[in-house]
Amino acid sequence: MPLNRIVVVEPSGFCAGVKRAVGMLEQALCELAPPIYCYRELVHNRQVIEQFTARGVRFVNCLDEVPEGANLVFSAHGVAPQIVEQARGRCLRVLDATCPFVARIHSKVRQFVAEGRTVFLVGHRTHDEVRGVVGEAPGAVMVIENPAEAEAVQVAPGTALAVVTQTTLSVADTAKTIGVLHSRFPALATLPQSDICLAVRNRQLGVSRLAEQVQRILVLGAQNSSNSQRLVEVAVAAGADATLISTLDDLADIDWQGVDQVGITAGASTPESFMQAVINALRRLNGAAVTRLRVATEDLAAAEPSLAEGDDNGQQRK
Ligand code: SF4
Repeated sequence: MPLNRIVVVEPSGFCAGVKRAVGMLEQALCELAPPIYCYRELVHNRQVIEQFTARGVRFVNCLDEVPEGANLVFSAHGVAPQIVEQARGRCLRVLDATCPFVARIHSKVRQFVAEGRTVFLVGHRTHDEVRGVVGEAPGAVMVIENPAEAEAVQVAPGTALAVVTQTTLSVADTAKTIGVLHSRFPALATLPQSDICLAVRNRQLGVSRLAEQVQRILVLGAQNSSNSQRLVEVAVAAGADATLISTLDDLADIDWQGVDQVGITAGASTPESFMQAVINALRRLNGAAVTRLRVATEDLAAAEPSLAEGDDNGQQRK
């Protein structure tokens, strides 16, 4: 059975926070003298990092690698205050590409801790975003990865508590973890709106709808992209066969036998150029027609949290 239909879900690919971070680094390349350093990966995507590396950006994991007084960009995932201090100590000129949705979580953690609360941070403890948020108050933020950890966590009686989450988690899995925390700690303070950002929720909605139409789904994104990995999990939970595609070479491993339709989505840090390259490769291989499935219209600029009021994050990074 030949592949005759490729369904591309929209929205997919770059979110507003990634577009903003990429745009800031592009502008820095135009306006500032090289070299420009970036602390950690600007966004979790190999193609993006390779393209900027080829243009002279130096990605570092430690500020000791950055000469005093150099230009430094903080990634979209944000950084701990200790990194901000180190940059200041080395007289680095900082451009902060932290996504406003991530900055909002930093701000809320500072606020909760100032109220005397211990904060549960639901997320993956090795992810850059989580490391940065924990750095706001290392003794007062406890990372909870899953419902089992929510069941096991212990706090002293009478401790005032709050919960926030990483921005790129699975909506369904996070609800389970927070449900456990709420049942154990009914007075837990929460934010009025979800910390999982709109772009991530839209992409998870999209892949669920896609799974109603096609059996095979390709999720385009990097292995270390949290939101791309979550899209694979959501697709599988919805009953589809889902595969993460990080490079064009990964397509060679797909078994197309019996597959006449394939769905495509892409994580929030996957560039349009890679999506197009995959679509072109599939069309060359099989001559299939491309259709679009739009599940939401994304106006993230309107949803972007304001950093102007009650949030010192922007000030702190200057
Ligand atoms: S996925 Fe959401 S939180 Fe992460 S960079 Fe994009 S808009 Fe910001």
